[in-house]
Amino acid sequence: MNEANHGAARVRELSHFIDGQHAAGTSGRFNDVFDPAQGQVTARVPVANTSEVGVAVAAAKTAFATWSETPPLKRARLMFKFKELLEAHSDELAELITRDHGKLFSDAKGEVVRGIEIVEFACGIPNLLKTDFTDQTSGGMDSWNLRQPLGVAAGVTPFNFPMVVPCWMFVMAAATGNTFILKPSERTPSASIRLAELFIEAGFPKGVFNVVHGDKSTVDALIDHPDVAAISVVGSTPVAEYIYRESAKRGKRVQALGSAKNHLVVMPDANLNQAVDALINSAYGSAGERCMATSVAVAVGRIADDLIERLMPRVRSLRIGGGMEPDLDMGPLISAAHRAKVTGYIEAGVAAGARLVVDGRGHAVRGHEEGFFLGGSLFDDVKPDMSIYREEIFGPVLSVVRVPDLASAIALVNAHELGNCVSLFTADGGTARTFTRQIQAGMVGINVPSPVPAAWHSFGGWKRSLFGDHHAHGEEAVRFYTHYKSVMQRWPDSEDKGAEFAMPHAS
Ligand code: NAD
Repeated sequence: MNEANHGAARVRELSHFIDGQHAAGTSGRFNDVFDPAQGQVTARVPVANTSEVGVAVAAAKTAFATWSETPPLKRARLMFKFKELLEAHSDELAELITRDHGKLFSDAKGEVVRGIEIVEFACGIPNLLKTDFTDQTSGGMDSWNLRQPLGVAAGVTPFNFPMVVPCWMFVMAAATGNTFILKPSERTPSASIRLAELFIEAGFPKGVFNVVHGDKSTVDALIDHPDVAAISVVGSTPVAEYIYRESAKRGKRVQALGSAKNHLVVMPDANLNQAVDALINSAYGSAGERCMATSVAVAVGRIADDLIERLMPRVRSLRIGGGMEPDLDMGPLISAAHRAKVTGYIEAGVAAGARLVVDGRGHAVRGHEEGFFLGGSLFDDVKPDMSIYREEIFGPVLSVVRVPDLASAIALVNAHELGNCVSLFTADGGTARTFTRQIQAGMVGINVPSPVPAAWHSFGGWKRSLFGDHHAHGEEAVRFYTHYKSVMQRWPDSEDKGAEFAMPHAS
């Protein structure tokens, strides 16, 4: 990494990480990385061209020959070492995340812990790769399975989780014997480079984990490369769908997680204090820039007025500032352009007739006049045909939709084209059971907002929130990153029996 004077501030020049070492960008193209709390450029990140992608893929392909033959127990031992290094550097990683992204340092520390949990899960890879064996499927024949790595896998990740989403991918890909190329978000690229450095320091062979920075052109080069066997993407639905379609067309295995519009349904019997806390934390935490953020509160029956009354003062009093400062509730948005987009949604909601009961526009933070800040906003009387209801806003804006009963709440959620996660707040077990069974979303929380599955479960949505068959991390990741092979074996008897033309069977 180089440093240069770029305008008034000191601007770092980031590098790719290929075959175990830093590699300066050679394409001549760069993107600016901002400190969103100050609105200033802090780094320039290179955009890898086709030939740089080719170099990374070649390094990963070479490394695959040995890495795929490395016993899982040896891979696990390296994962243990990597986990120790991540723990030792957790503050440093969290600070890199906060500086690029703007989220609170405490929130970034939580993200680092979630990333480490994926590594902890991967430490059990010998057991996870263990397969089934059937003795005597038919006379003298046994049957068993193998799970074998795919080859070179690639990953494309979003700006909002610069550590944990890459960990879903490269950690699980490497543990299962693949080699990997990460194309992190060009807006939050710093943590990925530190992860690659620590991976090498842990003792993983060079070429197992590579980082190439870039944008759509870099992703297209990965999709087009014949030696990339699989692609994982996490991003907005149009991008996830595009990568899914283009990669599948070229015969690659694809896992594509997209956008979210998460509902939190509040029943009349819910503990209202808990429901309000849950809504405040899940709608406004990380400035609403989480794919598990709640963006719609569905108020069932008579509870609606009370809910709005209690939410309003809480939204007005959100403590907003620079992510490295203490005692705050949320930081800035990722960019000026994104803030303008979120503000545009607020204007559209007002124009469509929703009641804006708290308006976060124009929120200023002293000492951060150029930062990309926006206050929390709250809408009441939102209707399903409004753009603020239909589309993902990805900002600190909560819409309240009023419905008469549980059946209407379920119908509302199920009619939305996105289905990442959903929550229900209730005191009734029967209501919770009906909801859990009938709701169409990939992740469900009962009296739990933003139900992010633990590392040994799997993460992913339904409908247009996910393309492809597999969810991320957990055992789904083991399946995604391996080919399944079924083996039937018979050792010849001492006497030849001649050719057998009938299908083998047990009797
Ligand atoms: P994005 O779709 O703009 O970018 C995601 C990645 O795709 C980045 O690495 C980017 O460089 C690349 N990219 C952008 N445009 C591309 C194109 N046209 N072709 C190929 N690649 C392209 O998303 P973002 O703004 O970085 O992240 C926020 C989005 O990610 C939200 O929609 C959020 O819901 C989603 N997200 C989903 C999950 C999930 O698990 N479902 C998790 C986190 C974020």
